[in-house]
Amino acid sequence: MPLSKELADVDKPKQSSAFAADPPPAEDISASDLFIAVKTTKKFHQSRLNLLLDTWISRNVQQTYVFTDGEDEELKKKIGSHAINTNCSAAHSRQALSCKMAVEYDKFIESGKKWFCHVDDDNYVNVRSLVKLLSHFPHTQDMYIGKPSLDRPIEATERLGDNKMRPVNFWFATGGAGFCVSRGLALKMSPWASGGHFMNTAEKIRLPDDCTVGYIIESVLGVQLTRSNLFHSHLENLQQVPRSEIHKQITLSYGMFENKRNIINMKGAFPVEEDPSRFRSVHCLLYPDTPWCPPQVAF
Ligand code: UDP
Ligand code: MN
Repeated sequence: MPLSKELADVDKPKQSSAFAADPPPAEDISASDLFIAVKTTKKFHQSRLNLLLDTWISRNVQQTYVFTDGEDEELKKKIGSHAINTNCSAAHSRQALSCKMAVEYDKFIESGKKWFCHVDDDNYVNVRSLVKLLSHFPHTQDMYIGKPSLDRPIEATERLGDNKMRPVNFWFATGGAGFCVSRGLALKMSPWASGGHFMNTAEKIRLPDDCTVGYIIESVLGVQLTRSNLFHSHLENLQQVPRSEIHKQITLSYGMFENKRNIINMKGAFPVEEDPSRFRSVHCLLYPDTPWCPPQVAF
């Protein structure tokens, strides 16, 4: 069965039989095989990162690393060496964001882990669901998994030097939904991604960090993005995530979409006023034994 077909099946709710088993895992991995990089910036430590530390990161500290741009003693007290000051600029510029992705990549290579996953600081990550998906693929193969936010390949111009230009089209997984790269593929990306190379590559196409990852993988290395509908950014209508399937999603987000508040639709443990992102309610759904979750009730 082709991998893309297999992945589509993984995403689908099993309807045929109560005994329908998942396809056998290609590799028996656990959360400790993952390197999850969270991109943040000092001004969001309070407003965004603390929510993640209270929720999904609290259950996954060992495999999660926070990449930021300023010193924060409070953060260091909470996660120690898992708080990484990239020393990149705190500006929301293309260069500053590429600088952070470059550090994420280098730290992943250094870690020796099997899978590199990148998320933003407005993502909730269901690590159990993520492990389940990744276990269907060998980490030594070339795998790039995520969800595009565009409905067609992005059109870019590659600067070749000598004032020469070349049009390139490629798909990329949107960083705001999270994406993963296998170690096998990440190692092949090294000439374009390691050390200072990532920033040079990003400058060649003058596009943001997540596009640059897609460019290296699809245009340079010729490896195709594998899509999964279990990744979600706030660039899509989050109301469309079915209420009964929230526990299966890999990433969720919150934010604005077409000028309106964009959050998943769930009843959950807390009302929207107390939990505007819905992440605390999601966390209580996934980890009902959390001390601050209300006693388990049927939602
Ligand atoms: N971000 C950053 N530096 C900045 C602004 C944002 O590193 O100056 C990070 C932010 O923490 C988040 C990601 O970039 O992880 C995307 O930012 P945001 O969600 O504000 O914007 P979006 O691109 O989703 O609209
Ligand atoms: Mn965002």
